[in-house]
Amino acid sequence: MKPEDILALMTESACAHNAKTKSGCARPQPGATQGGCCFDGARNALLPIADAAHVVHGPIGCAGSSWDNRGTRSSGPDTYRIGMTTDLSEMDVIMGRGERRLLRAIGQAVDSYRPAAVFVYNTCVPALQGDDIEAVAKDAAVRYGVPVVPVDCAGFYGNKNLGNRLAGDIVYRHVIGSREPEPVSAAAMPPGITGHDVNLIGEWNVGGEFWNVAPLFDELGLRILCTFSGDSRFREVQTMHRAEANMVVCSKAMLHVARKLNEDYGTPFFEGSFYGIKDTSQAFRDFAHRLNDADLSRRTEAMIAREEAQVETALAPLRRRLAGKRVLIFTGGYKSWSVVSAAQDLGMVVVATGTEKSTEEDKARITALMGPDALMISDNDQTALIEAFHNLKADILVAGDRYIYPTLKSRLPFLDIDHVRCIGYAGYDGMIELARNLDRAVHSPVWEQVRRRLDWLRAAA
Ligand code: SF4
Repeated sequence: MKPEDILALMTESACAHNAKTKSGCARPQPGATQGGCCFDGARNALLPIADAAHVVHGPIGCAGSSWDNRGTRSSGPDTYRIGMTTDLSEMDVIMGRGERRLLRAIGQAVDSYRPAAVFVYNTCVPALQGDDIEAVAKDAAVRYGVPVVPVDCAGFYGNKNLGNRLAGDIVYRHVIGSREPEPVSAAAMPPGITGHDVNLIGEWNVGGEFWNVAPLFDELGLRILCTFSGDSRFREVQTMHRAEANMVVCSKAMLHVARKLNEDYGTPFFEGSFYGIKDTSQAFRDFAHRLNDADLSRRTEAMIAREEAQVETALAPLRRRLAGKRVLIFTGGYKSWSVVSAAQDLGMVVVATGTEKSTEEDKARITALMGPDALMISDNDQTALIEAFHNLKADILVAGDRYIYPTLKSRLPFLDIDHVRCIGYAGYDGMIELARNLDRAVHSPVWEQVRRRLDWLRAAA
């Protein structure tokens, strides 16, 4: 990866935050890879392409520490879940055998699993050694007759977020636009309905949550060409250029993919979320608006009215139990506001939210939801967070998995909202699931028991 290419990814023109700062995103500092390196981010972004083989070129530790670290689900092939690495040793480095090992590893992946494509990830050691993974990928594609995509994403290039962007950039250059979508069969569309093709960019299908909303797209006649990249197939990624509208679902990291599709193919895009009732309804409205189809808008409103009525009925008893409960949210990026919106939908009081990886735009959305005095926490120190929980008199902490143990050891209610979770919270059904799990966590009888002073301690006092 050339330095100028990395620089271009740090100054995304479609990002309001970058437009304001002019100098773009902060440059990587020592320690920037805490919480995931560039390779980790790139692999995270592309691993959900389920029918592809993902070969990590580097020492075993790189593949081992990042394997399967997003709870993304596939409705079909599971090639993506097989950890593959060239497992470079000191001797390979000394003897300069890296490229040979990589070529052999790609051949083995193709022979053993017949993947639709092979993604090859560069890591720090071969990048420092100067292995030419682009040349190896080209050679392997000819030898083995499958597309081989070189993802040059050595950990020292920057942090996880940069890795996400870099993955999107590489896919844009190597994959998108290399195939045309299948024509829609007339029998697949309900009579009288004009279908549209759309993409969801940055939708990871964590815990299978996108399946909560997928049937609603079918009902409206919106064919999803690709969810980049949750539960996607390589052939779907190839056809993304033909969508009529794009939604950027998660974070700014993939914004440039939508922006480039807009510049090169004229595809309109918007940013949205499927967390919370209001945001889910708004996402469907935004699609209808971008597609400029009056009939679709009418059908969308009818669908929203029906779904909102159903979800309100299901939520009514849970709302009564959760109303007024104080929630401390500590998560990053777009979840820092989308989960706030979902909790407020349930009548909960959000006492503070984390902004560790949030952009200025994310923070502006938090302020819009929580008011100008919204308390935003950027310090990820676990002890400080538990202290904040007590000071703010919170009833539950909603955070990523690295906070599970300190919270539970402090005998406090906790809900995991991390991307490794296996429960989906997206869409109308996801909202019911979220409310159920919040209710279970807040009202679990275990808290009263574990906080009780033990008899023998009382006796000793
Ligand atoms: S790519 Fe580099 S920073 Fe990332 S896990 Fe491997 S050695 Fe560590």
